[in-house]
Amino acid sequence: MKNSKMTLSAETMNLDFVRKVEKLSGSSVSRCFQCGKCSAGCPMRSYMEHPPNRIVRLLQLGQFERVLAGRSIWYCASCETCTARCPNKVDLAAIMDALRKCSWDAKGASKESLVQLANKIFLENIRTYGRQYEMRLAAVFNLQSGKLLKDFMLGPKLMSKGKLKMFHQKNKNIKEIERIFRRIEELREKGEAL
Ligand code: SF4
Ligand code: SF4
Repeated sequence: MKNSKMTLSAETMNLDFVRKVEKLSGSSVSRCFQCGKCSAGCPMRSYMEHPPNRIVRLLQLGQFERVLAGRSIWYCASCETCTARCPNKVDLAAIMDALRKCSWDAKGASKESLVQLANKIFLENIRTYGRQYEMRLAAVFNLQSGKLLKDFMLGPKLMSKGKLKMFHQKNKNIKEIERIFRRIEELREKGEAL
């Protein structure tokens, strides 16, 4: 998708989608006046087809297909620089999170969304063990992404340095962690969390 020949279309305009993103992120896109400070500070800008300020502009115009088609939302590192730099308090990092959720809901897994798969397994581990379990994270990710031998040779090196453990003990505060996850689920059911 070339940026130089961008044609916006009324057929692809979907303001309901924009409202959903605003509700999930808790941030209004209409506040943006396109100063570009977000994009100027974004460390992932060079990997994105659409810089952060253009993502907001496309949302203002309801161009959800164009936003979700690119890989920009998946290259965002959630560093929150854009949010911190915005003079109008547009929480772009939260908008990027909401867009990834909407993309996953609408289109499921894609090559770019493997990062979402890694996030999902990461959180499953936190919920189950109360801390990260790197061995399981790598094994389940490789299985579910179909990349069975990804980073396979790194395993023995990490184990020899004590960075990767075969077995894992649960965090003793696991009940408290479960309570946090349940609370987030309740908020999600009400549409108040991602
Ligand atoms: S949160 Fe994402 S979009 Fe914002 S500056 Fe960081 S990498 Fe860029
Ligand atoms: S910094 Fe804020 S106001 Fe400026 S372009 Fe980015 S989102 Fe819009």
